[in-house]
Amino acid sequence: MAFALNLYPWIYLARFDGEKWSEQFIEQPHLSPEEESKLSAEQRNELMTKRNNIPLLPLVNYTTQYGLGCFEGLKALPQKDGSLKVFRPDQNAERMHRSMKGLMMPPFPQELFVNAVCELTKKNAQVGFRPKYEQGWEQENYRDGHAVYIRPFTYSEPAIGLGISKNPWVVIIETPVSSYFTFPNTKAVTTHRFRATPGGTGWIKCNANYVSAILAKKEAESQGYMEAIFLDAKTGNYIEEGSSCNIFFYLKNGKLVTPDLGDTILPGITRASIIQLAKDKGLTVEERRISIDEAMSESVEIFVTGTAAGVSPIESLTHKGKVHELPFGDKGEVARELGALLKGIQYGAIADRYGWLYPAS
Ligand SMILES: *Cc1c(COP(=O)(O)O)cnc(C)c1O
Repeated sequence: MAFALNLYPWIYLARFDGEKWSEQFIEQPHLSPEEESKLSAEQRNELMTKRNNIPLLPLVNYTTQYGLGCFEGLKALPQKDGSLKVFRPDQNAERMHRSMKGLMMPPFPQELFVNAVCELTKKNAQVGFRPKYEQGWEQENYRDGHAVYIRPFTYSEPAIGLGISKNPWVVIIETPVSSYFTFPNTKAVTTHRFRATPGGTGWIKCNANYVSAILAKKEAESQGYMEAIFLDAKTGNYIEEGSSCNIFFYLKNGKLVTPDLGDTILPGITRASIIQLAKDKGLTVEERRISIDEAMSESVEIFVTGTAAGVSPIESLTHKGKVHELPFGDKGEVARELGALLKGIQYGAIADRYGWLYPAS
């Protein structure tokens, strides 16, 4: 499976006591990766259950009851030179800081975040849990490349009444990941649901936002589409995002357009990286509102971006029964070139001129 729950053994835990954060790295039960690969499904399940359990964390709390929590997602990528590097952890640290403040939690310091992510990746690599670089990935622009998926998240103190989390934990786990979209097509459809509302939490990477995104995506899938596209809640005319990725439109006039950030759009780090790469390539990038009508009549390529998705072209967009066809897969030149640039930098095949990679092993 592309994104199964297959935790690496080392887990990071930090807790705020009202004044400072105390940190610990915990080595959960494990064998060697080779030994684990030989376990029966049942034995494996038993081991994963143990590994996915920290008795210290309370069952009843603001996060499990009300969705009051936020998280991050980033990757460590195996490099051609044999090392592992984390992609822009400083940006995730900053976003997590903003998210926690947005949820009225004591924010987690950025330096702790970056150090914890790199150190955890190193610890897992030291016990053999890490992907190895494969030459073969290069031919397909790393479409089949493997990576370590890093998931930092907050977890609240025990509570049942309504309240804010004053003494949260920050937990970081890691799991292997390969290509994300495994659906048989890359068709997208607009959804009647809304992900975010003005004045809401759409700009925060918070747990609760994912409820309508998951429902919309499942509905889209059951109708034969890979992805659901959200329109704005106020007018229903403007495009916002995919279910958990940002969206770009390459128009007939040669401009690349992506919805501008506001309080209903998640500021993706892949989005920011693609804007930078596109500008450096000489493309005109516009961050502005784009209506569904303009997208349906003017776009020649559409792609979504995110840590898990990378740059993923959409082969058609359906809105109210009307279908707008776009180039399939690698036939979309702009998406292909930008995707290849991003992956090339991430896997160390293209020089990292922006200083986006942080050593982790
Ligand atoms: C995480 C997320 C993204 C993508 O952000 P990246 O930093 O590029 O991974 C886009 N939209 C939503 C709603 C998200 O939660």
